[in-house]
Amino acid sequence: MTDIAVSETGVTEAELLAIAGPGSVLSGEDLRGRDPGYFMSSIEARLLVRPSSTQQVSQILALCNQRRQPVVVHGGVSGWVRATQTRPDEIILSMERMNAIERIDAVNRSATVEAGVILQTFQEAAEEQGLCFPLDLGGRGSCQLGGNASTNAGGMRVLRYGMMREQVLGVEAVLADGRIVSSMNAMLKNNTGYDLKQLFLGSEGTLGVITRLVLRLRENPTSCNTALVAVDDMANVARLLRRVDSGLGGQLSAFELMDSDFFGVNTQSGRLASPFEEPSAFYVIVETLGAEQDRDAQVFETVLAAALDEGLITNAVIANSERERTDLWAIRETLEHIVSDFQPFYAFDVSLTVGEMDAYMRDVRAALAQGFPDGKIAFLGHVGDGNLHIAIGAGGPDDRHAVESCVYRPLAAIGGSVSAEHGIGLEKLPWLSISRDSTEIDLMQQIKDLLDPNRILNPGKVLSGKSG
Ligand SMILES: Cc1cc2nc3c(=O)[nH]c(=O)nc-3n(C[C@H](O)[C@H](O)[C@H](O)COP(=O)(O)OP(=O)(O)OC[C@H]3O[C@@H](n4cnc5c(N)ncnc54)[C@H](O)[C@@H]3O)c2cc1C
Repeated sequence: MTDIAVSETGVTEAELLAIAGPGSVLSGEDLRGRDPGYFMSSIEARLLVRPSSTQQVSQILALCNQRRQPVVVHGGVSGWVRATQTRPDEIILSMERMNAIERIDAVNRSATVEAGVILQTFQEAAEEQGLCFPLDLGGRGSCQLGGNASTNAGGMRVLRYGMMREQVLGVEAVLADGRIVSSMNAMLKNNTGYDLKQLFLGSEGTLGVITRLVLRLRENPTSCNTALVAVDDMANVARLLRRVDSGLGGQLSAFELMDSDFFGVNTQSGRLASPFEEPSAFYVIVETLGAEQDRDAQVFETVLAAALDEGLITNAVIANSERERTDLWAIRETLEHIVSDFQPFYAFDVSLTVGEMDAYMRDVRAALAQGFPDGKIAFLGHVGDGNLHIAIGAGGPDDRHAVESCVYRPLAAIGGSVSAEHGIGLEKLPWLSISRDSTEIDLMQQIKDLLDPNRILNPGKVLSGKSG
């Protein structure tokens, strides 16, 4: 390992090793060689420490707080808003060694886990017990449950089960000064004063380090029906959402939109196969989860046939096997082609009402065409939740603000959110005031200053440190 000079007050490698044990600290080339995460070119932090218990996290933070040593928590570094980006004076606290699934309680339908458990590993463990952890997103193979909690992640099944916040019953977190807050509640109902765990959900590692969680589990669905449908305009997409939701009696679990630009990129020759011969303006993946395959499949087909008769959809293909289902989902989940075709690549994650989407999409297209006539744009997203993702390839390295303006300015007029599920991080900080007023931002800063007065936790992320 290469020794890196530390500031006079900074915490040293030896001090971290004394707390977390041999092999727990990375520096120099071992640290630089790690995956820096999405859309970041390198890791700048001088040290990375991997604690293996809450007590160790507590001791590390107490020491860092004493020395005013800034700390950035790393989960699976799959986030999209540069919330895990580091500066040379910072150290990384990685949760990767705190990866135990401590208990799955089938009777209470809950589980106790350490924060570093990978989402997919946990989904599979729950399934082995005949239960289901319903949060599901494209980063499932690398993101951690602690990261999901601190970003309040969304994903493919929010429509049916809610965001991560709805899956969390209890939290254990370590404050900046090393105090351990244990709210490891396992009950669905508990109105005994302020719900302190909510402070740590969605606050992106700025108020405390989540070390353990109690998570809610659901019964494992035993039927699944999936279709890809073609729709000719956004008005019909909105009508279709209501039609299928009402017809499917609570089973609708995914309603995922792709516009023709996104669909076209992924189904170009040599890439993924489109099941349709004729192109369409929009495509939607409709999926249900239930308990009786034959009966549910019949209802699913009846509802889609009615939507076809009513002209809400122009074409539909239903998956007849798990393989066909995976192939349909691949068209929605594959991002590598759009990232390579749309350069420089910008990804947006906004929230607005379904009724406003059509006009908003037109406004964004028009703004981009005006500023960047050669720009490329595609829309996709969890439209059932009012969540649009926008992929843009436009301009040069200095055009970020101008491209972002095309997306966020039309949103301001309709009171939309600049972040539906990815968070604020560094990426969206300049635009926070579109979605939050100055009183809200001031209050957030006061909470931050109360819990982390020395501002050592993920400094500069979510809040600028100035008043709103
Ligand atoms: C292909 C792909 C698809 C995706 N799709 C979705 C999607 O549909 N919906 C969605 O919401 N997101 C999506 N994401 C984004 C990402 O997976 C989520 O934001 C995820 O919740 C981040 O978890 P992580 O463990 O990787 O956190 P990281 O990226 O490591 O960290 C994210 C933030 O949480 C903080 N943090 C991490 N762990 C802790 C902890 N234990 N305590 C305190 N703070 C912590 C970090 O400091 C940082 O601020 C996708 C990502 C990829 C790569």
